[in-house]
Amino acid sequence: MNCHGLPYSLASTNTTPTGIAVAATFHYILKYDMTNSKALVCDGCGQEASAEHIERRLRRLEWTTRYRPVHINTLVLGAFSPQEEKDFLYAPGGEFHGEAAHLLDALGISSAGKAAEGVHAEFQRAGFFLTHVLECPLDRDAGQGAEAAALLAQRLQPVATRIRRSLKPKRVVLISQALRPILEKILALELGCPVVLDNGKLFEFDGPAPGNSVARFREALAGPAGD
Ligand SMILES: [Zn+2]
Repeated sequence: MNCHGLPYSLASTNTTPTGIAVAATFHYILKYDMTNSKALVCDGCGQEASAEHIERRLRRLEWTTRYRPVHINTLVLGAFSPQEEKDFLYAPGGEFHGEAAHLLDALGISSAGKAAEGVHAEFQRAGFFLTHVLECPLDRDAGQGAEAAALLAQRLQPVATRIRRSLKPKRVVLISQALRPILEKILALELGCPVVLDNGKLFEFDGPAPGNSVARFREALAGPAGD
């Protein structure tokens, strides 16, 4: 069912410079319209998806893909893609706050006086790639505690497969306290590489003392990437 009338108007703009993104959106809508138009589930997070949700997912995917290293040395894994765009590392705005700021700080990458692309390229050149168990923000009405942990747990197998078969990093670093309830489950996954921990614990960039985590993260990165 075509309830948005979108595919036609989007298809007609295919020759614009944003043609690739538009084509991806087009494909996405078609795929879901053909299966079930009532309960669309986002492939990036497993949550029910509105048109706006899918649009945001595709936008972040496009920004992220651009700076994926060919060979990923360190995969930085968070729980949820940040709610705010300025906290999302790969956003093109050039404002780096929250998770994005902590990561750059830990790597000693300064964003002062640089265009966002320069910062992203530097992060990429260092062999780093950031992703989240849920590649979208947690729906605002999804509750925090148990429900969030359940959503994360549901995504673990697809994430592990993606890490093992596609991303193939030399190591994985966990940076969200929201992953704490499922840490044992993560450590039991077959990722094909070691998980770097802070004395058996997570680095918590979203915890009460992110500065401490950033400092310890920096120390851990100085160690060799396990082969
Ligand atoms: Zn999503």
